[in-house]
Amino acid sequence: MIEDSIKKILLEIEGEAALDDKKELREGLKNTPKRVAESWKELYSGYNKNPKDTLNATFNGEGYDGIVLLKDIEFYSTCEHHMLSFTGKAHVAYIPTERIVGISKLARIVEVFSRRLQNQERITTQVADALEKYLKPLGAAIIIEAKHECMGCRGVKKSHATMTTSAMRGVFFDKAEARAELMDLIKN
Ligand SMILES: [Zn+2]
Repeated sequence: MIEDSIKKILLEIEGEAALDDKKELREGLKNTPKRVAESWKELYSGYNKNPKDTLNATFNGEGYDGIVLLKDIEFYSTCEHHMLSFTGKAHVAYIPTERIVGISKLARIVEVFSRRLQNQERITTQVADALEKYLKPLGAAIIIEAKHECMGCRGVKKSHATMTTSAMRGVFFDKAEARAELMDLIKN
């Protein structure tokens, strides 16, 4: 159970200092295992969600064939190597064929994959794959910019460095003009 495991970790970190006179976790740590377990439920809630359900709610696009872009989607994820957070924003775009999806779903699909133990490259690929598979668009694209806590507070200690990843599918991959239009929309 996660709570018991966290208690063990606290004892590893602090040793005797973690305990009070009654040999129980000291006041400040008493509810920490419970709080960590609760927060992990949220951080790892993506495992209970699947992209198909998220992208299922589609509507008739009524002939719209331009780019649909949701930009600056903030997200929080946890790096699988250090279990430290990486956070930033995602820009998600697609060009519909017949069906369009509710715009909030583009934010939700980022949540489905970011609320897991992850690396940034994998979230990028998984979101692009899901858009392609379930929306069957003319093109799909995602760009993620994120700062990684594991690079800031430890190791190389570069807390301002931003990592960018992208996946381009369909026309965004094939056609430089489509990619250029997307980049313009993201910048402006
Ligand atoms: Zn890391």
